[in-house]
Amino acid sequence: MLKREALPPVPRVEPELRPASQRLLDWAVADRPLSDAALREQAARCLDCGVPGCRNACPLGNRIPQWLAAAARGDWERAGKLVHETSPLPEVCGAICPQYRLCEGACARARLEGAVSIGTLERALAGRAQRPISSIRRNGRQVAVIGAGPAGLACADRLNRSGVRVRVYDRESGIGGLLRTGIPAFKLDKSLLDRRHSLLEEAGVEFRLGRDVDGNLMAHLLEQYDALFLGLGAQRSRAIALPGDELPGVEQALDWLARVNAGSGEPLQGKRALILGGGDTAMDCARAALRLGAQVTVAYRGPEARLRASPKEVRLAREEGAIFLFDYTPLRFLGLDRLSRVLFQTPNGPRLIDCDRAILALGQQPAPPTWLARFDIAIEDDGRIRVDDRGHTTHPRVWAGGDNTLGPDLAVTAMAAGRRAAEGILSSFNPIKRIGGWR
Ligand SMILES: Cc1cc2nc3c(=O)[nH]c(=O)nc-3n(C[C@H](O)[C@H](O)[C@H](O)COP(=O)(O)OP(=O)(O)OC[C@H]3O[C@@H](n4cnc5c(N)ncnc54)[C@H](O)[C@@H]3O)c2cc1C
Ligand code: SF4
Repeated sequence: MLKREALPPVPRVEPELRPASQRLLDWAVADRPLSDAALREQAARCLDCGVPGCRNACPLGNRIPQWLAAAARGDWERAGKLVHETSPLPEVCGAICPQYRLCEGACARARLEGAVSIGTLERALAGRAQRPISSIRRNGRQVAVIGAGPAGLACADRLNRSGVRVRVYDRESGIGGLLRTGIPAFKLDKSLLDRRHSLLEEAGVEFRLGRDVDGNLMAHLLEQYDALFLGLGAQRSRAIALPGDELPGVEQALDWLARVNAGSGEPLQGKRALILGGGDTAMDCARAALRLGAQVTVAYRGPEARLRASPKEVRLAREEGAIFLFDYTPLRFLGLDRLSRVLFQTPNGPRLIDCDRAILALGQQPAPPTWLARFDIAIEDDGRIRVDDRGHTTHPRVWAGGDNTLGPDLAVTAMAAGRRAAEGILSSFNPIKRIGGWR
């Protein structure tokens, strides 16, 4: 049901992209921002549906029609506030959510003349949505969050706003998890994470960065805190186990991206980089290798129609010079003392491809620490931490969420899981409201 009458069709406008030749010279994002007038016109395309498909498709239940209405009026203050109400990291959702298969995919306008540009507007609101959090009355409860990825940050933000004292532990020196170590700056401007770090600290969240939590520290935290949240991610690269995979020059995508994102990726001028995979991680590797100077080929074992990467990322990689090979299944890595060729099975028989680097972007899986067993925290057969629908683990005072309970997924689903677990923790503090659970 549409509450507003369909206006004369205003076409959907995509932001202009910087030319590929210019993009390759830096690590900045590709989109040029739309003018405020264009943003308002695009926001005004929203039909304010009675049952908004966009909101229902958003894992965070973002109040999209409401903030679009505020943006259409040019009330950026109100729009930013509304965006922030349901999303702990709106700047991240704006930059990297696959809107085409979430809110925009479900938009009523998608069936008319193109979905409302929710992603573009959310991106534009990102800076305006990074707002200080107003002062909070403390309630005497304390929670330790392990993992400063989107799941841990969402949990910390929700608890902190409810008056709980929160301390976040992470082995990395900066917050963000894979947003910092995995996703390159041309997709997500890292200064947004630094700004979010400051905002959370100003709001009272404490961070203990550079701290690897082991079984002993976990036992100590259980003594000190009322509850714990585990947002450990799923950062073990899927193994391929092919002959020659130990040769220097064969690299796992996450290790390679972590070096590149820390600024210590080696230059690849004049080198040939072969990226194996067809998801977002493969596209990020391809575009990063292009910026380091490599000639890049992406080899995917399926047909083009089965690529899991977002169509926009595939298009950007192509424009920047990546060559794609489909239905190429790797069989063997070859070379004397380092990688020089990869043998593939192709629809036309075996084929050798010369290369200097092979970057394996074949997906990740959870790597639950062995010490979880010491605390009777049950693990599923595939390595995910077992939780109920509020993120409660099999330990009475431990909750979990994000990639370590879902398997590798999206930043927005990790945030939703972190927030859900925070709700679970809050209800455990208030037994009258407690619903269900393991025990
Ligand atoms: C290359 C790449 C591209 C991606 N692109 C997109 C995209 O475009 N859109 C999208 O929505 N998602 C994307 N994702 C997925 C997204 O980044 C993840 O789903 C999300 O970050 C998961 O959040 P999380 O908080 O569960 O875990 P993580 O982000 O993995 O964070 C876990 C944190 O826990 C810390 N930690 C783990 N164990 C310990 C310990 N024992 N002690 C202390 N700290 C610990 C880690 O250091 C890490 O900081 C991408 C992922 C990758 C790798
Ligand atoms: S953004 Fe699309 S689905 Fe959402 S309320 Fe507006 S027209 Fe409807």
